[in-house]
Amino acid sequence: MNDCLFCKIIAGEIPSAKVYEDEHVYAFRDINPQAPTHILVVPKEHIGSAAELTEENSAAARCLVAAAKIAEREALTGGYRIVSNVGSDAGQTVKHLHFHILGGKRLDDTMA
Ligand code: AMP
Ligand code: ZN
Repeated sequence: MNDCLFCKIIAGEIPSAKVYEDEHVYAFRDINPQAPTHILVVPKEHIGSAAELTEENSAAARCLVAAAKIAEREALTGGYRIVSNVGSDAGQTVKHLHFHILGGKRLDDTMA
């Protein structure tokens, strides 16, 4: 069986604070927020990371379109940052593609 944490969250087997859902995308609040607004946007399809995307797959584009809608709903009018960690050097802990939306304050100038 699929042992992926985010697949279980999407399936409702593990609770989450949902902020958005459509046919292809699910979004919920990060359990350990790094900014006043910290939301994870994930494709419902299991994809391990951005490194596994293909030209034929629209999962990432759908996530980014959803992220813009979510940012508007969350009134992130001053801007926000979208981050997707890939692999161990980036600190990816959940091997299901996800985009962090970070906002609600002036974010650090450094990204690494
Ligand atoms: P990453 O380190 O990029 O793989 O991000 C994984 C994120 O998932 C981290 O920011 C965690 O705080 C978050 N996370 C882990 N478990 C949960 C959960 N059950 N609900 C919400 N967010 C979670
Ligand atoms: Zn998954």
